[in-house]
Amino acid sequence: MPVSREIHLVRRPEGMPSPKDFALVEASAPDARDGEVLVQNLYMSVDPAMRPRLTAGQALNEAMMGGALGRVAQSRSDAFAVGDLVSNRQGFREYFVSDGKGLTKLNPDPDLPLTVHMHALGMTGFTAYGGLLFIGQLKEGEQVFVSTAAGAVGSVAAQIAKIKDCYVVGSTGAEDKAAWLRGEVGLDAVINYKETPIRQALEEATPKGLDVYFDNVGGDHLEAALRRMNTLGRIPVCGMISGYNSGQSPVRNLSNIIYSRVMLRGFVGTDFMHLYGDFQRDMAAWLKAGRVKYQETVLQGIAEAPAALIGLMEGRNSGKMLVKLAD
Ligand code: NAP
Repeated sequence: MPVSREIHLVRRPEGMPSPKDFALVEASAPDARDGEVLVQNLYMSVDPAMRPRLTAGQALNEAMMGGALGRVAQSRSDAFAVGDLVSNRQGFREYFVSDGKGLTKLNPDPDLPLTVHMHALGMTGFTAYGGLLFIGQLKEGEQVFVSTAAGAVGSVAAQIAKIKDCYVVGSTGAEDKAAWLRGEVGLDAVINYKETPIRQALEEATPKGLDVYFDNVGGDHLEAALRRMNTLGRIPVCGMISGYNSGQSPVRNLSNIIYSRVMLRGFVGTDFMHLYGDFQRDMAAWLKAGRVKYQETVLQGIAEAPAALIGLMEGRNSGKMLVKLAD
């Protein structure tokens, strides 16, 4: 019966979360009974959407929930064999027992690193793909702005827009990330919003206005984009991270959507599951051809999970934030 370390939320944060809001707790993982499996998590995904759940949704004094990739360590189920890799929502813990509900078997692509299935070739990349092509109705050659362009979702969205021969502007809050977007990714313009106010920088970077703004930030970034939207532009709203700590992401010029007849639509990845097969085919090919590049920030060990979540809110990740729990 292995000892499973897990992270509990012990206090609801106000504003930026602090390490004191979390506790590392040791529990014994029970053996699998008939019809069950014991899973050892290998990697857990750290996502901005966890922050709103710390305020409401995540129970106190229980192991936190989050996306993870695990390996079946014991099986008394006909559906799973020892060694199977399974995606699950039982992150923030090393081991758990399951009756199989909520586990999805993963057949990793042998030509790609395992972890890409947790970002570019997983739901993160799919969010960018469907958000841009289906919700945003992107057309070849359009003028595009992607915020948090060096992040997990943003970097994929920006590169898909480049593959579609668009003029692409990306924003980020750090110079090393800006350098990656300019040098490795080859965006047409890169904004460091901590150096130049986003409104001014976006105006200078978009002489032909914007047809699509892929919004990950809300607030000042959305306001700046609304000033630049061309007639019949589209704004797929993926996230509003600027308001996740405060609960507010104010925008004062929403009426611009009327004058320019702009479509503004929030979405989640499950809105376009019919595209998942196309996505997997396209993304695997783009990754193998080096047309989509990615970065990962991987912290080591379950004890680092709170630091990973806080670091995400502080912009200390380049690309996908992961915590490695086991080899
Ligand atoms: P990420 O971009 O890899 O990491 C978060 C980044 O946000 C940070 O590195 C930081 O980058 C930036 N950031 C933090 N606070 C900010 C602020 N106040 N203003 C501007 N930027 C700030 O995370 P991700 O997983 O790819 O998620 C990106 C967005 O997509 C989030 O809003 C998330 O909620 C959303 N999302 C939505 C869905 C969906 O289904 N709708 C699914 C996944 C993610 P810089 O250092 O560059 O500022």
